[in-house]
Amino acid sequence: MKVLVTGGAGFIGSHIVDTLIQANMQVTVLDNLSTGLRHHVNPGAWFFKKDIRDLDIKEWFVQEKFDYVVHQAAQTTVTHSLANPFYDCDSNIFGLVNILEASRLSGVKRVVFASSAAVYGDTETLPIDEHCDKNPASFYGLSKLTGERYLEMYHQTFGLEYVALRYANVYGDRQGDKGEGGVISLFAQKMLSGKPLTVYGDGSQTRDFIYVKDVAAANCQALFSRAANRSFNVSTATETSIQELIRIFSQLIDYSPAVGYVAQRPNEIQRSVLNNQAAKKELQWQPAYTVQTGLGLMLRNQQTRVSAS
Ligand code: UDP
Repeated sequence: MKVLVTGGAGFIGSHIVDTLIQANMQVTVLDNLSTGLRHHVNPGAWFFKKDIRDLDIKEWFVQEKFDYVVHQAAQTTVTHSLANPFYDCDSNIFGLVNILEASRLSGVKRVVFASSAAVYGDTETLPIDEHCDKNPASFYGLSKLTGERYLEMYHQTFGLEYVALRYANVYGDRQGDKGEGGVISLFAQKMLSGKPLTVYGDGSQTRDFIYVKDVAAANCQALFSRAANRSFNVSTATETSIQELIRIFSQLIDYSPAVGYVAQRPNEIQRSVLNNQAAKKELQWQPAYTVQTGLGLMLRNQQTRVSAS
């Protein structure tokens, strides 16, 4: 089985590659290394430095004859999308359509797409299920939602199969190694180097934090699931506030950091927690890690790396 992972040198993509290789798949990685790192790519995968927006990508797909595509390459942050909507659109919409065209012209069997909880925006109903209203609060959320609509229309028009996975807030090893990262990777870096943490707003805002290995497992299940041509939340269904997160960190590291409070970020989502029943039932997947166990593992890995270097 030949699987292409776009963005396979990136944070989530590289863990998906590891999981696919463990499952004996033949894996090719496409990455432009804008945020990904070459040394994150499993040595068992073929690596091509290429951009998802390259116009010769169709010929390459025809030549390589991939059975499946896991599309992770993207502009991945809300703040960057607000600062540079054009770049977000170029990567997340134009790049996706380029991959979809190449996929349908070369006979790919299924595309698994990295979508995001950002498609929902702030919702009145919690936990958020897949049918909730979608009111993205950022260009990033909008580009992911538009991506899902493209997948739907590619399926209706050309019969290309897809599964879209709406990730909650993903954390774990390799996040933020190149300047991008969510709150957990920022806090981990700061706490391990004894620096103060910054909280935007009062810290009562919540997120559903999911460990990257659980996300990789969900992608593998989505490649071969009977259920297809729809979107699934990939989450723990557990709500954790930033204040609670700091408490968990303090317990795990056994030290209380200094915390500075600054103004809330623009377009901030106040609460986020996603129902994961559909993925449990239809993808036969479930998260194996809680925030405590995932964070504990991540911190142990980071401390091992620090003491080995
Ligand atoms: N956050 C924070 N301090 C930081 C980074 C993030 O308080 O140094 C907060 C941020 O305001 C948000 C939450 O942590 O409420 C998650 O932020 P992240 O950027 O990880 O994800 P997103 O807001 O895109 O869900």
